[in-house]
Amino acid sequence: MLKLSGEAFAGGEAQGIDPAVVGHLADSIAEAVREGVQVAVVVGGGNMFRGATLSEGGMDRARADYMGMLGTVINCLALQDFLEKRGVETRVQTAITMQQVAEPFLPRRAIRHLEKGRVVIFGAGLGTPYFSTDTCAAQRALEIGAEALLKGTQVDGVYDSDPRKNPDAVRFDHLDYAEVLVRDLAVMDQTAISLCRENDLPIVVFDLMGEGNILRAVRGEKIGTLVSP
Ligand code: UDP
Repeated sequence: MLKLSGEAFAGGEAQGIDPAVVGHLADSIAEAVREGVQVAVVVGGGNMFRGATLSEGGMDRARADYMGMLGTVINCLALQDFLEKRGVETRVQTAITMQQVAEPFLPRRAIRHLEKGRVVIFGAGLGTPYFSTDTCAAQRALEIGAEALLKGTQVDGVYDSDPRKNPDAVRFDHLDYAEVLVRDLAVMDQTAISLCRENDLPIVVFDLMGEGNILRAVRGEKIGTLVSP
């Protein structure tokens, strides 16, 4: 289960979709699929709308969260297009039904698609406000029986402080869930981490845009930071 943040889709911009970035992501996923790895993807929506940010501006939080969830579906369709252009079969499944553009989320059907070599892209998060797409990625990973949750980020792992602000920040090779929670390390939100912890789902945090990184992560090579029991 690969979690792609919406932020990554925007490249250097605050909003929107950078075709070069999505193309690069699709190239890497296509390579993994050709190696025979079953790949499911949860796509975030931070490049479109974040419910929490909109609600700070005065919007009702739940409605703003639905906007955020709809934004993730736009990213899903972009990724689907770039993958299909590379000859990879895909299905988008959404937690909010919109049958003209995607299948509804049906876990057993998702597993069947994966077995057939199709990439399944999950959109609209969990379909409920007040959750994140990281939590969705953890839940979907568990429900479809994924071996690991691969969390692609802008940095090459988990650090004890922000490496962009502190040149002495130290990177962890391995962490257990409790350390992440207690030290409030910037891996994923606490709901997502707790879900992984309760179910022993390993998380790999790695630099999404590094050349060959997605392939290394899905092959199970040592990369970034591993969070596991
Ligand atoms: N969201 C939600 N429920 C979910 C998943 C997402 O309400 O189950 C909303 C929430 O407003 C969030 C937005 O969708 O801010 C975009 O998702 P997220 O912030 O997780 O995207 P990312 O940070 O991965 O780009």
